Amino acid sequence: MRYNNYAFSIIAIVFKGGFIMAKTVFISGASRGIGKSIVNCFARKGYNLVLVCKSSIEQLQEIGKIISDQYKVEARCYTCDVADSNAVNDLFRRLSEEGIQIDVLINNAGISYIGLLQDMTDEEWNQVINTNLSSCFFTSRAVLPQMISRHNGRIINISSVWGKVGASTEVAYSASKGGVNAFTKALAKEVAPSGISVNAIACGFIDTQMNKALTSNEKKSIFEEIPAGRPGTSDEVAEMVYKIVTASDYLTGQVISFDGAWT
Ligand code: NAP
Repeated sequence: MRYNNYAFSIIAIVFKGGFIMAKTVFISGASRGIGKSIVNCFARKGYNLVLVCKSSIEQLQEIGKIISDQYKVEARCYTCDVADSNAVNDLFRRLSEEGIQIDVLINNAGISYIGLLQDMTDEEWNQVINTNLSSCFFTSRAVLPQMISRHNGRIINISSVWGKVGASTEVAYSASKGGVNAFTKALAKEVAPSGISVNAIACGFIDTQMNKALTSNEKKSIFEEIPAGRPGTSDEVAEMVYKIVTASDYLTGQVISFDGAWT
């Protein structure tokens, strides 16, 4: 078993005498940062959640418990390495056996690597590409048959402005996010006839643990370069994700920069 399951309360919303099941959103990288904010935002709106992280299961479990208590939604928490095709397949097989259908897929899990390209090993390169880009392939391939048969579905990929403009000492990261942007546009064309939208948000500087290696002086000089004069917050990204998910499915194939006019 490459994953663990921690299920919390299950609810159905009773509406005019009938049962309307809440929609289910799958969020990778849900244990902290942007993913955690997306979890809170969708729970507040009444979505059931399938939450995934790589190893911080206690943190994720705690988040799942708080939101399921507070918002009376279902939160299933799993560890799953989204860079590993077999692990992703195992997880989606398990979800399917449990009758869980995914209405919204949010590919948020990601890692950064800072260093000169010439010093990078094959293993480090593959880890960045598989975690940030191949994961979008693995999860999308798993959810699409269900979405296509229902003629409905939303996929959102959390990308980066570095995927558009490139960053020195972040070549692998930039390449992975550039790949996510092209993946988004191409898949959107492929599945638009099936009523499914695929979009990406290219974030600028968002103040999360991903940037913990930066000193406060380094952060200060970056913020001076951002016309908006500050970093974005993970809650702002989450609200943006929700707006895109609830927009018309005619909004598709877009890579939306969210960077305070930085790039
Ligand atoms: P973060 O705080 O470092 O959180 C990363 C999350 O991804 C954690 O939940 C982590 O789980 C999970 N994760 C990492 N590798 C994984 C794997 N192989 N399988 C499953 N889960 C994995 O990062 P963040 O800043 O919130 O970033 C979220 C997304 O936004 C990433 O795709 C990142 O590239 C993108 N982004 C961030 C910024 C920024 O400035 N922060 C800017 C542009 C784009 P564990 O806790 O178990 O490790």
